[in-house]
Amino acid sequence: MGVPVSQMWTVATYVLRQKLRRVERYPLVLMLEPLFRCNLACAGCGKIQHPNSVLKRNLDPEECFQAVDECGAPMVSIPGGEPLLHPQIHEIVEGLVERKKYIYLCTNAILLEEHLDRFTPSKYLTFSVHLDGLKEDHDRAVCRDGIYEVAVQAIRKAVDRGFRVTTNTTLFNDADPETCRRFFDELMEVGVEGMMISPGYPYEKAPDQEHFLHRNETLRLFARILDKPKRTWRFNQSPLFLEFLRGRFDLECTPWGNPTYNLFGWQKPCYLLQEGYCGSFKELMETTDWASYGRCSGNPKCTDCMVHSGYEPTAVAQTFGSWRGFLRTAKVTLFGFGASGSIAEAASGQKPTAAQPLADSSLVQLQETISPIADSRDDSENGPEVKSEVELSVRS
Ligand code: SF4
Repeated sequence: MGVPVSQMWTVATYVLRQKLRRVERYPLVLMLEPLFRCNLACAGCGKIQHPNSVLKRNLDPEECFQAVDECGAPMVSIPGGEPLLHPQIHEIVEGLVERKKYIYLCTNAILLEEHLDRFTPSKYLTFSVHLDGLKEDHDRAVCRDGIYEVAVQAIRKAVDRGFRVTTNTTLFNDADPETCRRFFDELMEVGVEGMMISPGYPYEKAPDQEHFLHRNETLRLFARILDKPKRTWRFNQSPLFLEFLRGRFDLECTPWGNPTYNLFGWQKPCYLLQEGYCGSFKELMETTDWASYGRCSGNPKCTDCMVHSGYEPTAVAQTFGSWRGFLRTAKVTLFGFGASGSIAEAASGQKPTAAQPLADSSLVQLQETISPIADSRDDSENGPEVKSEVELSVRS
């Protein structure tokens, strides 16, 4: 099973609408953090180092709905902390489903099986389970034995019950490419809809500072992991972002693409950095000095960052906002990564290709090109029965 066509259609038309309206900066995924507390303490996590007074607090459903309405992004990711520890998380999810938002509820899955009854399967709701590798690697990453097996069992139960389930995996400099490939095989066997992979961000507050990847290490690692990908692998992220990770397509960060709202307000400038908070989404967009962030800015905090929350929105915008991005996406989707470059080129830092923006007439043409998808889009509430014709998959 792949991403429902209706979700792809919603995102594509949303992006094209922004382009045609000449909106320079627009959000794609709201990162809604309704709490910071967690039932794990992972070595690479920079999110849970708050005092107890903060860790005890939750955003209430109304605060969440107000942020979602204010932001207007078509997708909402709910990280944390561990969202299943929130006593009203099911109410928050119900409210977002009513608003027809595509929700990715990020969880370590320790509580997933026991809490499944609180939720109803819907094409709008996906459980995004944190898994950083096979048993040994994952249990080491989360600093507790047995968690991999608990998560895999919960995934199987959720899939059996008709829920959409994906995984999110953060990789560090000790990742072994061959083991990662076996891990992907296993996730496909377990039955997840798609996988999301990303290098870890070097959080200053994370307990483990030794294993974060520098940019060239990231390119080498992902070029090897994604070399000749198997036909069975499905990724829940854009082909252009995967091309970026393996050094075959240049992207610049768009931190406003995944704005973050949490207990402190709207976080400047992105999900990873905490450089102040705003009282409204409008204030965030209008008062943040965006030129000070991203790799081109020279900001040392951004130098090694290739994290999905900063670059996936750029990849999506270029897919639907530039011919080069659209054609590269189509090429990778149809023919696989092998057609676009070698590991040696990626690792050598050879300059990758970048996309040029489309003229308005081309945007209309592009919208017409993908409009047949609208005819086949699915409007049923139960996404898991839906098979996408246009999966974000890679083929060898
Ligand atoms: S490059 Fe990374 S750290 Fe810098 S603004 Fe973008 S997402 Fe944030």
